[in-house]
Amino acid sequence: MAGMANQAFGYTGNGRKRQGSDDIGGDGDMIVAKKGMGQGAAACWDDPAAALAAARHEFGEHGGVNMSIEASATFTVMEPETMRRMFAGELGPDRDFFIYSRHFNPTVLNLGRQMACLEGTEAAYCTASGMSAISSVLMQICSSGGHVVASQALYGGTHALLTHFLPRACNITTSFVDIRDHVAVREAIVEGRTKALYFEAMSNPTLTVADVPELSRIAHEKGVTVVVDNTFAPMVLSPARLGADVVVHSISKFISGGADIIAGAVCGPASLVNSMMDLHQGTLMLLGPTMNAKVAFELSERIPHLGLRMKEHCSRALTFATRLKKMGLKVIYPGLEDHPDHALLKSMANKNYGYGGLMCVDMETEERANRFMNLLQNYSQFGFMAVSLGYYETLMSCSGSSTSSEMSHEEQVLAGISPGLVRLSVGYIGTLEQRWSQLEKAISRMVQEGGMLLKN
Ligand SMILES: *Cc1c(COP(=O)(O)O)cnc(C)c1O
Repeated sequence: MAGMANQAFGYTGNGRKRQGSDDIGGDGDMIVAKKGMGQGAAACWDDPAAALAAARHEFGEHGGVNMSIEASATFTVMEPETMRRMFAGELGPDRDFFIYSRHFNPTVLNLGRQMACLEGTEAAYCTASGMSAISSVLMQICSSGGHVVASQALYGGTHALLTHFLPRACNITTSFVDIRDHVAVREAIVEGRTKALYFEAMSNPTLTVADVPELSRIAHEKGVTVVVDNTFAPMVLSPARLGADVVVHSISKFISGGADIIAGAVCGPASLVNSMMDLHQGTLMLLGPTMNAKVAFELSERIPHLGLRMKEHCSRALTFATRLKKMGLKVIYPGLEDHPDHALLKSMANKNYGYGGLMCVDMETEERANRFMNLLQNYSQFGFMAVSLGYYETLMSCSGSSTSSEMSHEEQVLAGISPGLVRLSVGYIGTLEQRWSQLEKAISRMVQEGGMLLKN
């Protein structure tokens, strides 16, 4: 299997059904007609929705409009020789030959194809969580002694992985930098030893935006692989189309949209995804953070409306951010023109999706942040106090004491996280004005209580 160099996880593949009594058959029945396009073709679409719609559509086994779920751990063959050829790497998933579902599974592979189209990468494969996607790709790219240059503003779990786990367990070390400081990024790269530049396209929770084209250029000059976490901005930003090599996702957030599933994906070159599946050296194959086929099916059915959902998350976030700012609150939202990264985001964003579904309100102290969230949930029913994001209801959390609490106080200051920072993942159910009146009601109550001073 180590020799499976050119398996296609991108857009190729076929809808071959196992018919007749032999595995290979004549040339003619090897590949059944499919709606699709060749590997890498998604890169020519400038809108991820167009790439998704042009991708191969997989039909169900009995002609169902939806694919069948391949709920099998193992796969049978018609002839013993086929097994040997599969293990030798001569027959693989690109020709519809599967061995065992910790390796490739057709249903999970189909979701991988959708993810590759979404991000405009050659290939993608899905994992059991966002963290397993991130850890697997970094451990694949960096060997013992390897070095990572990473943004100091990262999801708490990723920050802990880089700060504590990877140095102890794998002898992989990280230098954290302010990725807005391109000179610092260049200086932090140790030529030969630095294997990856890692950052979030839109950072958690401060919503700073990375200059993907320029950072990719700096990294590529020194032979460094660029890995971008695009969890906060699917559809809105396409880091691989802007120059990044690998895009990782926590599918648990916007892509799922249901707050019911934990899942992740690695989108990148076929050579990387192949290496992660290698029988002797592959992190996905050997550490085994495998996605279940039933989960993959559920997620596949949600991707077609991801674009619609993102547009609504984004337009509501922009409306609320604009109105809250007008009232005099300290709002952080990169869709606002006075946000320091607004022009950069606008230059990189895909057209007509908006500027992201998250916004922050800085209440300055944790006490005031907590009072605000308490009123929003229990007095005006605006949203739920919960970590995570991308749900149809609004979710609110105080980042410093929750999702970024893995970071020390000093690290939080460096990442720009104020103790009173309330992060809101803006939902889309209900009417806009209904939800706005709930938001206003909580603010009025807080002003009455003397807990908030409005500058205007
Ligand atoms: C949630 C999240 C992760 C981790 O993903 P899981 O699916 O929870 O493992 C990684 N990065 C970002 C930006 C996230 O928001």
